Amino acid sequence: MEFVRFGETVHHRSSDIVTRDPRYDILFEPVRIGPVTAPNRFYQVPHASSTGVDMPNTRKGLRAIRAEGGWGVVCTGYCSIHPSSDDSPLRYSRLWDDEDVKNLAMMVDAVHEHGALAAVELFYGSSLTANRTTREMPLSPSGLPRLQPGGRGHFPLHTRAMDKDDIRNLRTWQVDAAKRAKSAGFDIVYVYAGMSFGPFQFISRRTNLRTDEYGGSLENRVRLLREMVEDTKEAVGDACAVAVRFSVDELMGELGMQWHDEGRGVLELVGELPDLWDLKTFGYRDSSNARYSEEGYQEPYVAFAKQMTSKPVVGVGRFTSPDAMVSQVRRGVLDLIGAARPSISDPFLPKKIEEGREDDIRECIGCNICYSCYHESVPIRCTQNPTMGEEWRRGWHPERIEGCASSDGVLVVGAGPAGLEAARSLGQRGYEVTLAEAGTELGGRVCRESRLPGLGTWIRVRDWRRGQLDKLPNVEVYFASELTPEHVLEFGFPRVVVATGAHWTTALCDMRSVPVPADFGGGRVLTPDDIMAGAEVVSPVVLFDFDQYYMGGCLAELLAERGHRVTCVTPADLVSPWCTNTHDQWYAQQRLIELGVGIVTGAWVTGFDGAAATLTGRYAGEVREVEATTLAVVGAREPQDALYQTLAARPEDLRDAGIRTLQKIGDCDVPGAVVHATYAGHRLAREFDANVAPMLFERARLDS
Ligand code: ADP
Ligand code: SF4
Repeated sequence: MEFVRFGETVHHRSSDIVTRDPRYDILFEPVRIGPVTAPNRFYQVPHASSTGVDMPNTRKGLRAIRAEGGWGVVCTGYCSIHPSSDDSPLRYSRLWDDEDVKNLAMMVDAVHEHGALAAVELFYGSSLTANRTTREMPLSPSGLPRLQPGGRGHFPLHTRAMDKDDIRNLRTWQVDAAKRAKSAGFDIVYVYAGMSFGPFQFISRRTNLRTDEYGGSLENRVRLLREMVEDTKEAVGDACAVAVRFSVDELMGELGMQWHDEGRGVLELVGELPDLWDLKTFGYRDSSNARYSEEGYQEPYVAFAKQMTSKPVVGVGRFTSPDAMVSQVRRGVLDLIGAARPSISDPFLPKKIEEGREDDIRECIGCNICYSCYHESVPIRCTQNPTMGEEWRRGWHPERIEGCASSDGVLVVGAGPAGLEAARSLGQRGYEVTLAEAGTELGGRVCRESRLPGLGTWIRVRDWRRGQLDKLPNVEVYFASELTPEHVLEFGFPRVVVATGAHWTTALCDMRSVPVPADFGGGRVLTPDDIMAGAEVVSPVVLFDFDQYYMGGCLAELLAERGHRVTCVTPADLVSPWCTNTHDQWYAQQRLIELGVGIVTGAWVTGFDGAAATLTGRYAGEVREVEATTLAVVGAREPQDALYQTLAARPEDLRDAGIRTLQKIGDCDVPGAVVHATYAGHRLAREFDANVAPMLFERARLDS
């Protein structure tokens, strides 16, 4: 590999471009979809990006990058057809009138520039949208309220049962939006009949209690879908393909629709009607967290479809392996390989397969941080791909980066996600990088955490970066090198980046919701670090979780699987409540119940003496004791920043040693999730030697 000159833009650093493995040729065959043709089988299915209508440039950037990376079809997220389908405060795009067209046309043009087809997922929310901004009354087939026991999406407003005029109006809104989509330049227009949106509520017996020609028999319940597809085809079918996105199974057993009864029945009735079927399951299982699903996990539900229709079928399954993709096509499960998360994690996945660079694919870890952004109404982010969502506003490209701006050698201390990403990106820029790691393996926290139940895929954060570092001769990695301040001064690298991580503490969250050191009087108190390092655990265990993300649930699961008697105590009202954002809360709580873990919600641990833990209720302050020999505290973390602080306090020594900059990144700066660490490492590398303007990034102005 040759080194880059200063200021040169660096593309991927692989020196030996090889050609595509013929085994994967089938993935690059064009697929006819009604009046249009997809250039290959890589299909970026609709997924939320939380760019709404006020960030059209950001949406354009993050969609177009997939087209540039080789995805043959690139879809929008859900796009509302009418103000009575208003999902606020969640962020969606819209085609309510002609003014909305140009907002989406920007994305279409950018996608077309790279030769991909652009698709729009038109949606009508029915009872799932409470129309909080527009204040339109929600409509649904039978006027049912939305009942959500977990709280998310629950709203104290029922819906109006649609009469014949409402149904006629809905059909008109779909047609009008489809015509606008066509004028925006879209190639594929959806009728969305999944996830209990729009016509799905008519199809499901659960939500359709009507007695007219739109209720009763399956044929009647499918009537609206049939009409909407026919209307859409008539309106735009000359130029646009019409796709149906359909949830084949409500995953409620006999309480809801199942793929092998009415799911199949729907395709029997209208299988030939649309130009494309985009199939998935229902609810959180359509984008299942890797804790509870394997690659290809939807196959059992959608495999029947190709027997029911001659039209192309697309489906998802967190596919990152080209062999798994080929297998889906060859075995007649899917025609097009659908991906949301794998395309977020690696927008250039198809290009890498095409160029015979499969080992460069940055595989999705299934953590669903991307999904959490949608639930929290913030622009999309990705743990593995720090450039996602930053394509336009910061100008970050997932494969290209500015060449180095100086010949300074850089010492990076610590090889967790932050240090690895900093070393990799600085190395890609052409800097001479030395990465020193205290331990005997790379990866920091992801090494430890990927050994927890369900988190095996997280090691991909390390593996991809390790693979890339192996290809960079200008990055040297030293193991078993726990650096002291004296070492750093002695080495005298002009630039030092400290990424030494964080550790969990035994501080308890007190009733004012701040972590405070606690006096335990000698009981066995362990942190997640202790347990992951193999400390002896003696039952019974009280696990106090006020971190509220995955760690408490994973450790409770681990200890229960090892045969410990565990009680999980949390001041929250659910186990792992933040995991509602990442689609694993429900399953985490289910798993703990199945494993016999005791669950106490709405309580603080206020004392522990080695025999019992004292619990105090959050609402009424009631006090009780629970038998406990071990107290596991999953709560606060502290930066492990002694190296940085000691060096920073010795500016003269730094100067004498020739060290011009000293920076800290990742958990040793601010403890957070892995997504924060990879972003911090990447940002450091992007801004290294750069004059960063006071305005940090571009913002859209009056361009919606
Ligand atoms: P982050 O998520 O910010 O990358 P991690 O805790 O995952 O943080 O990783 C920090 C890494 O830094 C760990 O692998 C740890 O072994 C390493 N480390 C900590 N202190 C030192 C040190 N003084 N010298 C070298 N490596 C260190
Ligand atoms: Fe995959 Fe996680 Fe990135 Fe989402 S955030 S694409 S789940 S790695």
